[in-house]
Amino acid sequence: MRIGLLGIGGRMGQALLKAVLECPEAVLSGGVARPGSPDVGRALMALDGTPLDFRISDDASALFAQSDVVIDFTTPKASLTHARLAATHKTPLVVGSTGFNPDQQAAMDQETAHIALLQAANFSLGVNLLHALVRQAAQALGPEFDIEILEMHHRHKADAPSGTALALGEAAASGRGIDLASHSDRVRDGITGPRTEGHIGFATLRGGDVAGEHAVLFAGTGERITLSHQAFDRMIFARGAVKAALWLVGKKAGQYDMMDVLGLKA
Ligand code: NAD
Repeated sequence: MRIGLLGIGGRMGQALLKAVLECPEAVLSGGVARPGSPDVGRALMALDGTPLDFRISDDASALFAQSDVVIDFTTPKASLTHARLAATHKTPLVVGSTGFNPDQQAAMDQETAHIALLQAANFSLGVNLLHALVRQAAQALGPEFDIEILEMHHRHKADAPSGTALALGEAAASGRGIDLASHSDRVRDGITGPRTEGHIGFATLRGGDVAGEHAVLFAGTGERITLSHQAFDRMIFARGAVKAALWLVGKKAGQYDMMDVLGLKA
């Protein structure tokens, strides 16, 4: 299966390159960096450090034309441009970029209406299992348990709360049967007064090289349950995204997520 990589110069792009090269069912079809990036023209290296036949390109359209599936970990703005190209070439697309605002997500949904799209805020097995556990706990515990979601990422992360924290919030909200957007506290500062009953709270930490840590707290009176996940290496996301890409090829047009790949769909 020919897999193309968008955002190959980035932290995830480099992890994805390694994941594709180490996967026996995958063949690298090329890597694209941001137009104007110093990475454009650089030779791609094999796992043993020898140069591959590829140079990093800035031609995303050509990458779609020569790939069975493309993986995109860039930015929401770039991913929207790539979604348009995926639709033109009818190439299945895996999107890992996070931080889409509602308008960008609506545009993404529209652009990809006629292709197979797999979008996930987190491609790790552990976090996707955590979604299912959080939904179950939120349903079982009831509103007397306050739900708080805590996340920490490396100092370079651009969006907050993380896409994974928001997806865990969605899982908790669906367990509770509430709408997250109208029942969440994303920022607390100053004299906030008591906690709003039934709301899901978010707290964001940034620093160092943390690949991703998430904890969902269910705080009751006299007891507290914490469900948490720590990513020690971004290869877990890269391997998950390659697995998702292989799974997506041949699927009919539609929107899929990692829960479909892992068979964890509720
Ligand atoms: P990064 O900044 O290291 O890499 C992003 C890369 O995309 C950069 O090299 C940038 O130059 C490139 N880029 C920007 N516009 C482009 C364009 N038009 N064409 C090609 N390349 C372009 O960031 P990162 O840590 O690799 O993360 C990338 C995205 O993936 C972020 O949104 C992050 O939150 C997300 N992420 C998702 C998961 C997941 O499991 N879904 C895991 C980790 C990170």
